[in-house]
Amino acid sequence: MSDTSSTLRIVWIYPDLLSTYGDQGNALILNRRAQLRGIPTEVVYVYSSDPVPAEGDIYLLGGGEDRPQILAADRLRSDGGLKRAVENGASVFAVCAGYQIIGESYGDDDDNPLPGVGILDIHSGRGESRAVGEIVAQLDPTLGGGRITGFENHQGRSRLGSDAAPLSYTSVGIGNDGQTEGAYQGKVVGTYLHGPALPRNPELADLVLRWRVGTLEPLAPSWGEKLHEERLTAAV
Ligand code: GLN
Repeated sequence: MSDTSSTLRIVWIYPDLLSTYGDQGNALILNRRAQLRGIPTEVVYVYSSDPVPAEGDIYLLGGGEDRPQILAADRLRSDGGLKRAVENGASVFAVCAGYQIIGESYGDDDDNPLPGVGILDIHSGRGESRAVGEIVAQLDPTLGGGRITGFENHQGRSRLGSDAAPLSYTSVGIGNDGQTEGAYQGKVVGTYLHGPALPRNPELADLVLRWRVGTLEPLAPSWGEKLHEERLTAAV
């Protein structure tokens, strides 16, 4: 958390443009898992007509259709708040369209490359087929190595540059390219996992929280762990 406040500020970027397949659940579950540990929180909804505050702790972006995605990227680039927040040490968890646009470049509906926000070293373009269905992937060992699950629905494919590492390695589904899924660079994470991803993967939710608040006391397993197991079983 920032030095000036003991409240964890979770910032949901552009709910009016980027929020498909229940991705808002990522904000709700981070809030809930922080509160269960007695951490004071605030969830800030930043609409596309609003400036993005640079003083948040964890920034969330969801998925979206091709056109709202372009609008969101343009606004985020001209606003500059998200980039400043990352320079200030904030974490980012971005899903699908959100993942593509925080990269260096992404493709429009004719696959022309457009500039991204530039906080994650990835380049995205359109694939030959649409990737739709369940994903199971093994988290990078340095992030804990457990299995993560989600639902994907995207045309885009992503190529990682040398500053980004794969978030996970795909065993079911496509993700970036059929082999790796998502990317991370410092405390910036992108993924193709909808579901929503963080309620389906409590370990991943706690990883993102820990980056910002430090050590977390364990929580008793609850419905999130049951959902995780149920989705893993359903996908394989
Ligand atoms: N429009 C992007 C694609 O098809 C992202 C889709 C999404 O966010 N689900 O790749």
